[in-house]
Parts: sequence; C-alpha cells; structure tokens
Amino acid sequence: MARLQKILVVGGGTAGWLTACYLAKSLNSVAPGSIKVELVESPRIGLLGVGEATFPSIRGTLSAIGLDERRFLAGSTGTFKQGIRYRHWVRPQGAPGASDFFHPFSMPSQRTGGPELLPYWLLGAAPAGVPFADAVSMQKRLVDGNRAPKRAKDADFHGPMNYAYHFDAARVAEVLAEHGQTELGVVRHLATVERAELDAQGAIARIVTREAGELSADLYVDCTGLRGYLIDGAMKSPFRSRRDVLFVDRAVAMQVPYPQPDSPIPCYTMATAQEAGWIWDIGLQQRRGCGYVYSSQHSDATRAEAVFRQYLGAAAEGVTAQHIRFETGYRPEHWRKNCVAVGLAGGFVEPLESTGIALVELGAYLLTHLLPGDVDDMERTARHYNEMVVARYDRIIDFIKMHYCLSQRRDTAFWLDNANPDSIPDTLKDRLALWKHRPPHRLDFVGDLEMFLVSSWQYVLYGMEFKTDLEPMRSVYTRVDDARREFAMIQQMAGHALGDLPGHRELVEQMVREY
Ligand code: FAD
Repeated sequence: MARLQKILVVGGGTAGWLTACYLAKSLNSVAPGSIKVELVESPRIGLLGVGEATFPSIRGTLSAIGLDERRFLAGSTGTFKQGIRYRHWVRPQGAPGASDFFHPFSMPSQRTGGPELLPYWLLGAAPAGVPFADAVSMQKRLVDGNRAPKRAKDADFHGPMNYAYHFDAARVAEVLAEHGQTELGVVRHLATVERAELDAQGAIARIVTREAGELSADLYVDCTGLRGYLIDGAMKSPFRSRRDVLFVDRAVAMQVPYPQPDSPIPCYTMATAQEAGWIWDIGLQQRRGCGYVYSSQHSDATRAEAVFRQYLGAAAEGVTAQHIRFETGYRPEHWRKNCVAVGLAGGFVEPLESTGIALVELGAYLLTHLLPGDVDDMERTARHYNEMVVARYDRIIDFIKMHYCLSQRRDTAFWLDNANPDSIPDTLKDRLALWKHRPPHRLDFVGDLEMFLVSSWQYVLYGMEFKTDLEPMRSVYTRVDDARREFAMIQQMAGHALGDLPGHRELVEQMVREY
C-alpha cells in the first residue's frame, strides 16, 4: 500500500484556490498535516476573470473553508444575489402577454401541515394572473423593493432568504489565495508549467516548470482553465461537446460604471434574451459586470458587440470589450490516472444559472470525500468520481436547455433552432411529457446527482408558461381554502419583510465597514 501524501493543484483561478482551500481545510482537520496541499500558478498566464455570479451552495463552501462573510464581501467587492430575473425569455419584448419571469433561490413556502401550493396554483386558487414564483414565495417582492436577503445581525452565511453572491472573479482568487496560505497552510509556487513527464504506466511522474524546476505529487489537480494543460495536454482525456444542445459558444464582456456611485444595486442577476443568445448583467459594489453570450452559428463578433453596446447605452462609451470563446461540454474522464480536472479544465456549461463555480465546489467536495487512502486505488476512485460528475453535467444541461426550448420566441433562427426537437435531449423530452399531466415532484430527481432542486425546475417551467393539466385530478385536491389562506399569508409576510430587511446597498456597505 502507498499512502497518498501530497496533492499538487495546478492553476490559481477560482477553481484552483477554492479546491486547494477545501482540500487543505478538510484533510488537515481530519488528520493535521497528514496530506500536504500545494498550488502552482503561472505569473504569466492570467485568469479568465468572468465567473462573477454564483449559486447558493457557495455559502456552504465558504463557511466550510472558514472564511468570514464580511471579509469575503470586502475583499471580493461582493454583493448578494437572490435569484435570476429573466427578461424577454417567454416571448419577445412588445409581444402580447408576459415576457419576463423570476427564478428565486428560496423554496416555495410550505408551512408544517399546510398544503403543497403548486397544484392549487395550477388549479387557479391563487389570485388571478399572479405568476407562480410571486404566488408561492416573497422573494420577488423583496428584490423589487431592493431589499437584502438578511440583516447585519444574522449569522455569517445565514439569513431569512436563500442567497448567493456576485463578486469580482480576480479578487475572489486573491482572497482565497491569502486565506489558503495564511490560515490553511497551502504552499504556493509562482511558476509556469512547461511540461508533464509521465511514468511507465502513463501517470504523471512530475511536472517541469519554468521558474521553480520540477514539482511532484501523488495526485495532480488540473485547474488550468480552458486550456486543460494536464488533463488534455498530458493525459489526452477527450472532450465531449454538447454544442448540439446548447448553442452559445462566444461571449463579449464589459465592466461598466453605475450612473451614480450610490445607485441601487439589483439583488439578482438579470438575464435578457437577445436575437442569438442572452446578456448577463450583475451589480457589484462599484460597477456592473455584463456580457452577451451568443451562438457563433447565429451571429458574429461585430454584430454581437453592436447588440451589446446598444443594450448598455452610454455606460459602454469608451469601454473596451473582451471577446471570449468557449464550448458547452465536458470530459467524461475528468479523472484519469493520477490527474483530476476541476473547473474549466474539466468542462463548462454556458453561464445561464451560473453553474461554473458550483461545479468547482462539487469537484472539490467529491475529491475530498472520495480521496483514496491508497494510491493504488486511484483508478477505482476515478471511475466513481467520473460517474458522479458526468451525471451532474447531463442534468444541468437538461435544465439549461429547458429555458430555451420552452420559450415561445420564434423571431430569429437562434430561437427557432432551439425549439427543434432534435436539439432536445431525450431525458428532458421524457420529463416534459410527464409534466403535462402532473407537476414535477421531488421523486423525479436523484438527490446526490442534482444541482437544481425540484423548486428550480418548477420556477422555470411555470415561469415559461408551461401547461400542466390537472383538471382530471381536481377532486384529489380538497384543501382549496387552506391554499387560499396560504397565498394571502405569503403576501402579508412579504409586506412585513419589506419593512424588516435592510436595503441591499445599505447592508453591503455596512458589512464592508464592519470588517
Ligand atoms: P481560470 O480562471 O482560467 O484560471 C486558470 C489558472 O491556471 C490561472 O491561474 C492560470 O495562471 C493558471 N495556468 C494556466 N496554465 C498554466 C500553466 N501552464 N502553468 C501554471 N499555471 C497555469 N461561472 C460561474 O459560476 N458564474 C458565472 O457567472 C460564470 N460566467 C461565465 C461566463 C463566461 C463567458 C465563461 C466562459 C465562464 C463563466 N463562468 C461562470 C465559469 C467561471 O469563469 C469558471 O468556472 C471559474 O472562473 C473557474 O475558472 P478556472 O479557475 O477553471 O480557470
């Protein structure tokens, strides 16, 4: 038996530092000092720097590595995010009917002993015309009122409403790097990896760097971003493209100022549908981070930048745009021999619903908990790890595709192609067929493999005006009066919460001052 003693993380972006911190904290709190975690990052190759919106799981991860929430907000110029506002996704702007919906992070309200509200909403027991998310959760009213999800007195990473963050990607890496080195004992090498040398079995024996000579470990974690320096370059683990399902593969991004230094900060990501994709718009403490994600089969860089500048208006004057290429897909073997890819090196699903950093969190979590005690068990562990990761990717891809294929937009080739049944995975088609006659249930989802809970599927499905015909089952739902009382109660509670929760900018500034 050969005990695993040292892990080398290669790459110092969000993926590298989050993984190094998580490994160091978890492994050393089990058996202090028993497994060394080191990280090498290039002083010459920059970060991608556009992963700025997150998923609520990030709170658990930051708390697990022992960060302080105020320090995190101050260092990353972070703000709170309570969900995603989808504009012009249901139908194009100006068409009759609703074109927008909100995907809140908080689950639909259900009091102990109270009825589940979705069937009653489908049967028309909520006040007429109130969208599903607004009827069952107060979060939309709170973000419309520019409220924060918590109060300053709430414990770190907790609040009455579920939330994630928006942050500056480059600064997050710095905050994590400082925490990893000073609090968790991660050793950092500033060096550019030039090549990996393999042993007789095809595993990595050592890596050779330009500035720090040779470095070796029992396990190498490839966090080198889209280039996948080790997993692709040395291990030749193939990439499975899913561009046939999710078409967007380019982005044009800009950082733009607020109109005034004290402009309100939206407490959600705004995702506005466009002719060949969609625009993200998020608010940090002193600036907005925006990007137009589009399909190169349906637009080009010049047209995309023009559409994007039109959206931004005067805010974009004099600002240079960054153009980025990517592709939705993943390596079925994220882990091969003694090399495991985390972050963009392993794969990426286009940024709708912000799954990139959440997949990094998953990678760090699985790696920590499945880590083989014996180096000889590496291949068995790799198989298990890869199965879990691939299942998670496929489910995320179905969820994101649902946003596109349920849209009633048929105004451009991009939206027409998205509705083409050949582009919809069979797994998603099966679910949508079932949900025509009953709403999604928790049992449709396999706990550990899912990133999105049943409530997220429900919010998007009914936000996009999907029709579930419950009429034949009406007699089963006998608690109409209870449901009506619950719907009224949620509105009442929202009124109280609007008075109780601080303004978003106000809370962020207070927490940063207190740090
Ligand atoms: P990178 O940030 O590229 O870091 C790579 C690191 O590897 C760098 O430190 C670099 O120096 C180092 N490196 C590279 N080669 C070498 C070498 N040879 N030797 C040594 N070091 C090396 N995710 C979200 O969660 N939310 C979002 O809103 C979001 N938006 C996105 C929008 C777009 C258009 C794209 C493309 C991605 C988005 N993502 C988003 C994904 C997110 O950006 C990444 O998941 C996240 O930033 C992690 O990146 P990374 O650390 O894997 O790679």
